[in-house]
Amino acid sequence: MPKQYDAIVIGAGHNGLTCGAYLAKAGLSVLILERRHVVGGAAVTEEIVPGFRFSVFSYLMSLLHPKVIEELELARYGYQVLPATDLFAPLPADDHITFSDDIERTQRSFARFSKKDAAIYPEFDRYLMDSVRIMRRLLLETPPDPSCRDWRSFKETAKFLWRYRRVCGKLFRFADLLTMSADDYLSEWFERSEIKALLAYYSGIGTFAGPKSPGSAYVVMHHVMGEHAGAGGWGFVRGGMGAISTAIARSGTEKGVTIQTQAEVSAIETSNGRVTGVTLADGSRHHASIVVSNVSAKITFLKLLDKKQLPAEFVRDIETYRTLSSAFKINIACERLPQYKTFDAQKCGIPYPTYVHIGPTIEYLERAYDDAKFGDISRRPFLTPVTPTFVDDTISPPGKHVVNLFGGHAPYHLREGDWTTRKDELVRNALGVLDEAAPGFSDGIIGMQVLTPVDIEATIGSPHGHIFHGELQLDQLFWARPAPHWADYRSPIKGLYQCGSSAHPGGGVGAVVGRNAAREILRDRRR
Ligand SMILES: Cc1cc2nc3c(=O)[nH]c(=O)nc-3n(C[C@H](O)[C@H](O)[C@H](O)COP(=O)(O)OP(=O)(O)OC[C@H]3O[C@@H](n4cnc5c(N)ncnc54)[C@H](O)[C@@H]3O)c2cc1C
Repeated sequence: MPKQYDAIVIGAGHNGLTCGAYLAKAGLSVLILERRHVVGGAAVTEEIVPGFRFSVFSYLMSLLHPKVIEELELARYGYQVLPATDLFAPLPADDHITFSDDIERTQRSFARFSKKDAAIYPEFDRYLMDSVRIMRRLLLETPPDPSCRDWRSFKETAKFLWRYRRVCGKLFRFADLLTMSADDYLSEWFERSEIKALLAYYSGIGTFAGPKSPGSAYVVMHHVMGEHAGAGGWGFVRGGMGAISTAIARSGTEKGVTIQTQAEVSAIETSNGRVTGVTLADGSRHHASIVVSNVSAKITFLKLLDKKQLPAEFVRDIETYRTLSSAFKINIACERLPQYKTFDAQKCGIPYPTYVHIGPTIEYLERAYDDAKFGDISRRPFLTPVTPTFVDDTISPPGKHVVNLFGGHAPYHLREGDWTTRKDELVRNALGVLDEAAPGFSDGIIGMQVLTPVDIEATIGSPHGHIFHGELQLDQLFWARPAPHWADYRSPIKGLYQCGSSAHPGGGVGAVVGRNAAREILRDRRR
């Protein structure tokens, strides 16, 4: 006899776990169903090479919202952030540039290239942070429906505009961020390509775009929005990113959440336009009047539901929601840390660069995208090698190391061949670039896992392996994420809600989508 729950969450990504924990905290009985053997989705730690535990997908923490950390008491359940160092970027001709939370340190680093760029940096930082502060408030908002098609949406929009009336003066800054390319945006401030590239690098992370693509400036801001204290912006999580998901799961189970792994949902059940429960791939069924999907919007609405139940306009919006991805990840177990030939601990003021960007100029970044744009693997990809084992002794055998190598671009659709035959080429290109910066690194590799967008899709189900469940561009943000009129975590099916990164504010291990969705579900219960 299937058990009746108040709410069923499909998917135990960190957002699904968060949503479940908040619902249970409010007294609901909650069942979370996860397809894989492990909870966390793109925030997991897994032993891939014997003795080495990898943050298989996401690898750095910055966005996890302080409210979630506090309200779900994550520190009590083992969540601990370890500092990453200043960002170190090797440059050709045996040079480097660094980027720090500390404005004066960053200015000193910029001054080696341009006194003018160094002098203007504090003003740029203030200007960008003004927008970041507004964005941090917007993260926690439920996007209103500006089309005001009914009295409720009119009221919500009016209330929203009133709350943000003082922000209107900054409207044009937002328009710039949302529409300009990262290169154009940064060129309004800086003259040197190395400095622009250092910041524009963020625009390509997880995005199928180059620094010259319109709208790419926003992605730069998305990556500097984190506000966690204690580790200077980006940090590592002790035990890997999976420790975040485990902490949220433990917080939830203590509040009564039931989590079932290896439980793939194959259909969302409905009756008369209302959700009634789910069917699993093994044929079993669970009932609930609330179903929350942590799974991408494309899967939720186009695979788990019969499209005929949905408005045609909505189906079209979800079908055309852009998810094409070109991000790859190589998880490496190795004998030693990369030794960057241009790194000097004394000159850089850090003992070792645990957080590195390789993508020295705007032209380099754009050319990496040019290859992918036409269906080729970047000949010289941009790379983020991070080395958590410098600060975390729980994830590798003593004296050995883990390198998480994230990069772009490896397009989902290849012009020639496919990923079953061309993975070696990706590895060659990526390690070639890394070895140039850190000679001899590859000689110490013990084992590795290579994840192309196709592998990411196959493992966590995000369409095309998109790291954010969908592109972060104006037409897919805020009140249009994932579709106009349905950005408030609800859906055209009564009782069916969305709590994954396809919804506002999008991807990243921030847990905000899960928290916002729970708030809307509880609001509907009170109505
Ligand atoms: C390679 C990579 C690197 C990244 N790097 C970073 C980083 O360093 N820092 C950062 O903040 N963010 C990073 N991100 C982004 C971030 O990890 C994701 O945006 C975020 O984890 C998504 O969380 P989610 O809970 O919304 O969805 P997901 O994590 O995608 O969770 C969805 C869950 O649903 C499950 N599922 C799918 N279909 C079904 C089904 N039919 N039935 C049951 N369960 C199902 C999946 O197995 C999965 O567990 C990265 C992502 C990737 C892929």
